[in-house]
Amino acid sequence: LEPAHSFMIRTRTPGGVVTPRQWLQLDAIATTYAERGLRITTRQAFQFHGVIKSDLKKTMQAINAAMIDTIAACGDVTRNIAVAANPQVSAVHARVHADAAGLSTHLLPRTRAYHEIWLDEQPVVAAPAEDEPIYGQTYLPRKFKIGFAVPPRNDVDVFSQDLGFIAIVEDGALVGYNATIGGGMGMTHGDPDTYPRLGDVLGFLEPSQLVVFAEAVVTTQRDFGNRQARKRARLKYTVDDHGLDTIRAEIERRAGFALAPARAFGFEHNGDRFGWTEGEDGRGHLTLRIVAGRIVDGEGVTHLTGLREIAAELEAVDGAEFRMTPNQNLTIANIPPELRASIDARVARHGLDGHRSASPLRLNALACVALPTCGLAMAEAERYLPRLLDEVEGLLGRHGLLDAPIHLRISGCPNGCSRPYLGEIALVGKAPGRYNLMLGADHRGQRLNTLYRENIDEAAILEALDPLLARYATERGTTPHGTEGFGDFLLRTGVVAPPARRIDI
Ligand code: SF4
Repeated sequence: LEPAHSFMIRTRTPGGVVTPRQWLQLDAIATTYAERGLRITTRQAFQFHGVIKSDLKKTMQAINAAMIDTIAACGDVTRNIAVAANPQVSAVHARVHADAAGLSTHLLPRTRAYHEIWLDEQPVVAAPAEDEPIYGQTYLPRKFKIGFAVPPRNDVDVFSQDLGFIAIVEDGALVGYNATIGGGMGMTHGDPDTYPRLGDVLGFLEPSQLVVFAEAVVTTQRDFGNRQARKRARLKYTVDDHGLDTIRAEIERRAGFALAPARAFGFEHNGDRFGWTEGEDGRGHLTLRIVAGRIVDGEGVTHLTGLREIAAELEAVDGAEFRMTPNQNLTIANIPPELRASIDARVARHGLDGHRSASPLRLNALACVALPTCGLAMAEAERYLPRLLDEVEGLLGRHGLLDAPIHLRISGCPNGCSRPYLGEIALVGKAPGRYNLMLGADHRGQRLNTLYRENIDEAAILEALDPLLARYATERGTTPHGTEGFGDFLLRTGVVAPPARRIDI
């Protein structure tokens, strides 16, 4: 009798887009084969949790039948490419999304192993060694993350990506991208050789140079990345070990051109815009808050059913799409004006309208999956988030701060899948019930937080936050953009030390 091993399956969905038909198929897969519904990740992918081994192949084939794959969603390759959430807000967003999707295809491994193992494609007998022009025989030293941002939103946290592209828009049209390299969130507790790092802005390139440039960055990391120490194998360490100028020169040599000086850009926020927005063509886009990206039916909860109904209603609507955001939320996009009332009614009936009443803290909070699904987890994250939010909201309420848009993020281990080092308040798991408390990031994804208290439990976390929130309530200032953020306040008042580096643009 074989043990019932269970698995997590993650999709490759560049920019997190699926059609209503695909949503229905993914829903059916989750309901048939997975535990705990559908889950949206911080890289705009779906995860299916708890798929038992005997159902693996059927699940993979069902995903393939939905015209979605899982190729390079894990492993030492270019992972799912993250893209500013809604390409239908404007022609620029659509263009950026198309560029990202094209790059995702270009950077796929060429191997047919996926098709042979999961889709029963017959292997070519006596085939020559597979040619992997980008990854070679040994692939990359570690995973590689790419993100595209469209200012003024930095929802992909572009400076947390190994390779980032910031869309430069002039006179309403995309003219190119500023490229960033060397961002990354992961670290190891107690190992000062590992650290989160913000990417460096390298320079400007034109859209036609995008693919060649990205390939040059990937192959430079392939050849220069550290293959002795896996903990030091991300591009950020390659940049620091060899020096930015050396790595830039190598990338430009491989690309065959030099980058132009970076163009001006400005980010205002790294969260999502909730509720309805209207695109240039008059169609509506509704962003819903999905707590920790988890879409389930359960006791008194019918979120999965509600979205299934909406997908069925939109199946025949030309251009309608579901889009996962990099903040684990969901946009129902490209809705004709005459369908808005019906969608609103379904959203309300199934309690999917949490964005209308939730505090800013609740709307912006991120949590990785952690226990019981992630084998690397040291502490709870997703399952602890609701309780943590209740507790922190209690503090905010006591100090009259319920309207403060404080960004809170929690990860079950220092790998940082919920991008915790860019949270104004962040908890990074150390052991069951114990976390490092990190404070002081900004709202734009341009400044990392710093360690404030190490290895503390919930009571100590709340005890540490209480006096800081009390001070913030009475001493926070104003800026040209509005009320001073909590992280900015902590930095200005010297509660946390300035991080070693930040993006000062
Ligand atoms: Fe990622 Fe660590 Fe969270 Fe697992 S526990 S999802 S590795 S941050």
